[in-house]
Amino acid sequence: MKYYSTRNEKNTYSAAQAMAMGLAPDGGLFVPETIPTVSAQELKALCAMDYRARAVNIMQRYLEEFSTAELQDFVTHAYAENFGHSGIAPLRFVDEHTAFLELWHGPTCAFKDMALQMLPYLLTASLKKTGEERQVCILVATSGDTGKAALEGFADVPGTRIFVFYPSGGVSAIQRLQMVTQRGENVGVCAVKGNFDDAQTGVKKIFGDAQFAQELSRRGFFLSSANSINWGRLLPQIVYYFSAYCDFVNAGKLAAGDEIVFCVPTGNFGNILAGWFAKQMGLPVKRFVCASNANDVLTEFIRTGVYNKNRPFHLTISPSMDILVSSNLERLLYMLCGDQKTKGFMAQLSAEGRYDVGAENHEKIAKQFYAACCDDDATRARIQTVWKHSGYLIDTHTAVAADAIDQYRAQTGDATPAVVVSTASPFKFAADVCAALGTQAGEDPLAALSAYCGIPTPAPLSGLDARPVRFDGVTEKADMRATVDAFLQ
Ligand SMILES: *Cc1c(COP(=O)(O)O)cnc(C)c1O
Repeated sequence: MKYYSTRNEKNTYSAAQAMAMGLAPDGGLFVPETIPTVSAQELKALCAMDYRARAVNIMQRYLEEFSTAELQDFVTHAYAENFGHSGIAPLRFVDEHTAFLELWHGPTCAFKDMALQMLPYLLTASLKKTGEERQVCILVATSGDTGKAALEGFADVPGTRIFVFYPSGGVSAIQRLQMVTQRGENVGVCAVKGNFDDAQTGVKKIFGDAQFAQELSRRGFFLSSANSINWGRLLPQIVYYFSAYCDFVNAGKLAAGDEIVFCVPTGNFGNILAGWFAKQMGLPVKRFVCASNANDVLTEFIRTGVYNKNRPFHLTISPSMDILVSSNLERLLYMLCGDQKTKGFMAQLSAEGRYDVGAENHEKIAKQFYAACCDDDATRARIQTVWKHSGYLIDTHTAVAADAIDQYRAQTGDATPAVVVSTASPFKFAADVCAALGTQAGEDPLAALSAYCGIPTPAPLSGLDARPVRFDGVTEKADMRATVDAFLQ
């Protein structure tokens, strides 16, 4: 199976090349030339497998040059004791037709681990397959969770370096602590004065700097991405949509072959797009509910067909969704209208900050996606309602999705069984969750939340403030390149 850029179908690449490069040379994102299908029979077979076997089965369909043995080796390391739950991505039912898909049992307590525990294996194997002799330096712009998950995935992986930029003031206290105390000899972390989009724009600029690339190459380095624009990030995420469906069936709450709805708290559009790929492969999904916080650029897009990032940027209590430019949307646009139109939309976005996909494309999008958003007050109220009614504790991001599925059901009357994708442990956002529940967070929000709910703090989050701070640097947007330059001296 070949891959090509969303902005140019002419040049093709192998899966290994696509993952090693991260971003296509023309600035586009890599997409597979065809989408493999999973038959009803094969879906039934998946239901009898554990998470690891499901992962091998789904990923192999996209990775021709990787052997089954190789992928089996990857999953036994990526999805093992590093996860605090033997089911890896378990479902938790709150009623007969609604379940939360818990994607936060990995080492950083957020769903990014699902992909970033796997990516280092995919990437280092890809580098070998492509004959790359230089060291890869992973460059990450993070809105909070990706950075830590990438650091944890790549720390001390031979032949790799990793550097993470996060927006100063744009991440939670726990997220910041997780990153600035990161262990590993090959890691670096720095705050950027600005918001997530500033950090992401800065990183994209560095990726596009040919002169800098040449200089780094001379020193034996090349840059690659662990942001969700890398195909190696998206691919492992397709797996848990199949897995959730199978677990829903195995729980006896859905007949194999029946349709399901997925509701996804969305920022960069990576998670929900992985679900969309699962649907294209044959998973019976009726619709995806795209849930946004006060940064409702996607809500407006799905409702109107107009993407317009010219709007105020809000810092919310679901910071991993504080995004105005959802990079992975480009892959959906490509799938709907091809490389030339996509290239045009991206040029418009860059020049004017907006584009209009037109009535025909909008109709296709609205058929498969429903959009809803809610503000911080509704998010807090939702955490409280779910806790009171179901005795189930959810984080601020998951609460946005829990609110959206309610809006969807109320407005459409659709009673299809639904999976709400739960993207972070509530403990990761303990202070805001305490506030939502109406209890004092005090000096130690983790302990306060644990005491109030009678749930132990997840192991990866306890003892964080006792660890030494290794990275206290702050940089201006304009100096991001110099920061990377110094890191790779
Ligand atoms: C990254 C993240 C999201 C958004 O996911 P996208 O793939 O960017 O849409 C939602 N919730 C949490 C907790 C996250 O870390």
